[in-house]
Amino acid sequence: MPPVAAQGPRTLLRRLREIMAEKASAQSRLDKLVTVIAANMVAEVCSIYLRRSGKTLELFATEGLNPGAVHRTRMKSGEGLVGLVAETGEPVNLSDAPSHPRFSYRPETGEDPYHSFLGVPIVRGGQVFGVLTVQNRAARQYAEEEVEALQTVAMVLAEIVAQGVLFNLAELDEPELSLDRTRKFRGEGLSDGVAVGHVVLHQPRVKVEKMIADNPQEELVRLEAAIGVLRSSVDDMLDSSELDLTGESREVIETFRMFAHDQGWRQRIRDAVHTGLTAEAAVERVQDEMRHKVSRLNDPILRERAHDLEDLARRLLRHLTGDDEKMNRELPRDAVLIARAMGPAELLDYRRDRLQALVLEEAASTSHVAIVARAMGLPLVSDTKGITDAARAGDLVAVDGETGETHLRPPQDVVAAFEAKRWMRAQRVAQFATVRDLPAETKDGVHIRLMMNAGLMLDMPHLHESGADGIGLFRTELQFMIGEMMPRLKDQANFYREILDAAGDKPVVFRTLDLGGDKVLPYARFEREENPALGWRAIRIALDRPALLRYQVRALLAASDRKVLRILLPMVSHVAEFNSARALVDREIERARLLGQTQPRQVLVGAMLEVPALMFMLPQIMRSADFVSIGSNDLLSLAFAVDRTNPRVSRRYDMLNPASLTLIRQIVRSAADCGGEVSLCGEMAGRPLDAMALVGLGLRTLSMSPGHIGPVKMMIRSLNYSETAQFVEKLCGRADHSLRGRLAAFAAERGVVLK
Ligand code: PEP
Ligand code: MG
Repeated sequence: MPPVAAQGPRTLLRRLREIMAEKASAQSRLDKLVTVIAANMVAEVCSIYLRRSGKTLELFATEGLNPGAVHRTRMKSGEGLVGLVAETGEPVNLSDAPSHPRFSYRPETGEDPYHSFLGVPIVRGGQVFGVLTVQNRAARQYAEEEVEALQTVAMVLAEIVAQGVLFNLAELDEPELSLDRTRKFRGEGLSDGVAVGHVVLHQPRVKVEKMIADNPQEELVRLEAAIGVLRSSVDDMLDSSELDLTGESREVIETFRMFAHDQGWRQRIRDAVHTGLTAEAAVERVQDEMRHKVSRLNDPILRERAHDLEDLARRLLRHLTGDDEKMNRELPRDAVLIARAMGPAELLDYRRDRLQALVLEEAASTSHVAIVARAMGLPLVSDTKGITDAARAGDLVAVDGETGETHLRPPQDVVAAFEAKRWMRAQRVAQFATVRDLPAETKDGVHIRLMMNAGLMLDMPHLHESGADGIGLFRTELQFMIGEMMPRLKDQANFYREILDAAGDKPVVFRTLDLGGDKVLPYARFEREENPALGWRAIRIALDRPALLRYQVRALLAASDRKVLRILLPMVSHVAEFNSARALVDREIERARLLGQTQPRQVLVGAMLEVPALMFMLPQIMRSADFVSIGSNDLLSLAFAVDRTNPRVSRRYDMLNPASLTLIRQIVRSAADCGGEVSLCGEMAGRPLDAMALVGLGLRTLSMSPGHIGPVKMMIRSLNYSETAQFVEKLCGRADHSLRGRLAAFAAERGVVLK
């Protein structure tokens, strides 16, 4: 057997660089390239196929096959072995290609005599640009090093093609491959608003300037030094006494450390450096492979681990490129943040006045990042798979938080259309402002109280701007989630005092800490749970760790001197739970009295109705609680057995369906039977169409994000309550999967304003 890859990939990469630097035409450079690769790999054939017009793969250059087939042989998507490589994004290594079921014989190429076949994808950022192949007459299996070598060449080739060094991709009828092409993503709008701005990648892709090493030995030294710094920084993270890591957060960082010290990972990067890549390019290469493997896994735990490795690789790249300090770079004034996923605290790290919009690959509408984005009045689009790979920092991007459309690198006419939309929206906002001081009253005189949901100081100006009647839900946990550590008693009291001062005469309902589920404190000790949504959450934590609730109540009492203090307990499952929590509140009131502190004028304690079981105890809970508020986000998610944070299922059922309406109707009726009233503070209260149904069901108090008050008020003012009530009553008996269409048709017929 002849010595294969005799000169090694390093020589090959050097030659590749020389060829690309030549002033010759693209075709002659590609022709030379295949000759050099064939010689280096001791192959009789080397061919380059590139994608053209959609998914067709066209033979662009060959050494060994019939030259007449160049630009003539085209394989349809998935056709032949070349198509198989492109489809799977994986190398195909065969000693007897013709016997493979996917082999497709093309007479014009003259490939009859060749048995062995090795094809690797020309891939970049998860996108397959083409396929690079070598073939030999003799039936032989290509060795692992040969596959590696060809993959390395293909990676460099992908970069060259993507950057348009060889040809203008748009002219080649393949604008799809161009890094500059416009991309449109159809996601889901989770927070309204239209924006045009420039991309800021939340976890910026570190730009690798140089792919091919001048001196591999030096690269290894750089790599080792960077890995050393990386490891000690991760060790520091774990050992740092300040962080006091325990439970899950410790486990996460420990796994992180394990990865950082993983010899296999280090060795794979070293191997890639040995093939002639720079240390940075080697890290990227190993990461690309890993990303590709993981993209086909369904296991959420493994995918989570992959996020860890991504994070590590990014850190390593930053150490290598010295980009470390640039992390806290200046934001452009019109930043559109793009990320795979993000937590609420991370979003709050950014300066609001510089942000125009947020685009995420994954987030559900009730996730906390979405809630915070809405509180910030920041347009948010989610479910835009692939956008983080496609976007580059500084790209122009247009976002519509209503329709869920995102245009990356949009052409001028799209930008103009978005500017027009923005103008229209401003007009609409001005229209809402005209109803700000008018009552939320239906045409037949039914008054609805419109309250606002809040959680941060930055929400407070909206209370007066929106004309809300008060704060129906103040999510106190947000203040805990954004901090580095548990806020002290004094800080909590000051915060609540500021909120009450900002609210003036308007009521504020403070919900006590609703932790657990998707709401985790970066510094707290939470055990990992199989089913966090059904786990140790909210009032369950409060009763097991009474100090937490008592401190919070103490702070609330201190903050509300001579005012009415409204406390709402989250996730109550049965009356005994509520009574125990209420007893803790009473103890704090008694304590404050004994200490002679100024007291609130009145303390009202309410229960959130989020657990379906409590629906059947409504008369009993209404005897214990001063008020009841329906948390429809959790209530419906639990009633439908849908994890609200899992985008795969969170949109599977339209919450406007007969079961939801019947369930809410039952709550309203049973409250009325006991002479009480319930309110609703989940996200559906803020959607005009949903709110129309809720009013029809008899709800008189709705609490929503401030941006929705105007649209919901306009809807109410154009509505006839009795007609709606009759219509909704009939809907409850239907079997439809969604009642959205019927409700919208009703609204259109009756002239109900839905903006
Ligand atoms: C709800 O569950 O509807 C609710 C308002 O609470 P949160 O969204 O904060 O869980
Ligand atoms: Mg809830």
